[in-house]
Order: sequence, then structure tokens, then C-alpha cells
Amino acid sequence: MKRRLFIAGNWKLNKTAAETSQTVADLKEKLADFNGTLDVALFPPFLSIAAGQAAAEGSPIGIGSQNVHFAESGAYTGELSAAMLKEAGIELVIIGHSERRQYFGETNETVNLRTKASLAAGIKPFVCIGETLQERESGNMETVLKGQIVEGFAGISADQMTDLVVAYEPVWAIGTGVTASPAQAQDTHAYIRSEFAALYGQAVADKVIIQYGGSVKAGNVAELMSCEDIDGALVGGASLTAEDFSALILNA
Ligand code: PEP
Repeated sequence: MKRRLFIAGNWKLNKTAAETSQTVADLKEKLADFNGTLDVALFPPFLSIAAGQAAAEGSPIGIGSQNVHFAESGAYTGELSAAMLKEAGIELVIIGHSERRQYFGETNETVNLRTKASLAAGIKPFVCIGETLQERESGNMETVLKGQIVEGFAGISADQMTDLVVAYEPVWAIGTGVTASPAQAQDTHAYIRSEFAALYGQAVADKVIIQYGGSVKAGNVAELMSCEDIDGALVGGASLTAEDFSALILNA
């Protein structure tokens, strides 16, 4: 059984508000005849979100945030709460991207707290997991992914598993131009789904949306999306122009 695909673009630290307006308007135009058979979202930097929302109005393009803090308020300089995002009309958030784990000290525990805070506020988390090349090559990939799942999803209910998206992003394939082969990606997605089945039962696991991320482009998206356990893509570089991202969406 194939689930509805979700294609999302992570803009990272790219695009001012003016650039966001322009790119989202261009994307909206290019998707004018899009038949809406899959979900689409973009994640601009915080200060460009309002411009993205305004430009996306009336289109199928959702606009989300790249991060959220887990506390409701307090001494957390530079952070934003889930309630603040919600008040700004934000209903989608990326959590635990490997760049946040690598550069900003994000752990499975903080991923878990941020995910719970988002769900409680009615915001859909896109929870990122994935192994490094060293972890894969040393035979530890499954242990690492299992730890990210068991600790990252601790205390999240079976019902909540359909209110979130999981993004499997092998760190060695992000921004490197190296994509996991469809067979490699499918095998790992099947493993991830089996871990969710162990935690929540097969019926719940069968409903969980698991995106693949790592150098996805218009030219390789169709083959990846045809895999049984791959339910969409989290895209970095190929989401930055309306031309590239619309081609990727239309090929998915
Ligand atoms: C990402 O940033 O999540 C990502 C997958 O990037 P890229 O598509 O550029 O590899």
C-alpha cells in the first residue's frame, strides 16, 4: 500500500524575504496545473516565512519553520516556542536536521522534546533521522537509527504518529551529490518502518510517512518515489529555484 507522497524543500540559511516572495510566486505559477496528488511544502528561514506565506496563499504550497524550541517561554535567547510559531500561522516544522545535530548540539532527547512541543501545539513535525558514512561503514547504521527512533519518539502516541512525518536523511548524501541508490534507500526505509512496527504495531507503521532526503533531484525522484517504503522527499539544493523544485515535484 502506497501512502500519499509529501515533497518538502528545506532552504536552510538561504533566501531573504524578498527572494522568498519571488521564488514562491514563481513556484506557484509553475504548479498552476499541478493535480494535487501529493503534498508540497517549503521551509524558509524564520524571517522569510511571512513573505512565503503571503506568496503561497491560494496555492497547495505549505510554508513551515526549520526549528522550534521545546520550552513554552524562559531564558532561551534566540529561540522561538511552538505557540509563537502557531500564532504566526506556521503548521509545519523540521526537527533534528543533521546540520542541527552536528552544529547546534541537537540530540535525540532535544529532538524528542521539540517534537512533543510541536505536536501539543498542533504543528506537524518533520523529524529527521539518519546515519553518518562512518556509522554505515562500521556496521552501526541500524543501531544508530534504532537509537534515534527509540529515544526521539519516546512517549509519542500511536495516534500522534500520523500527525508527523519522518525524514530519513543519510548524512553522507546531504548536499554531497551522492544519493543512496533506490535499493539502499528502500532497504533502510523498510528497516525504519519495521522499528516503528515494533513500537506501535504494523497497522500504525503502515501509515507513517517516511521521506527520503539526500541529493534528491528532478532526475532521480521518480525512481526513489516508486519504492514501496519511500513516501516523499526532503530536498535541499534542488528546492532553491522554482524551476528545479517544480520539475522535481512534477516528476515525483
Ligand atoms: C537536506 O538539506 O535536508 C538535504 C537533503 O539536502 P540536499 O537535497 O541538498 O542533499
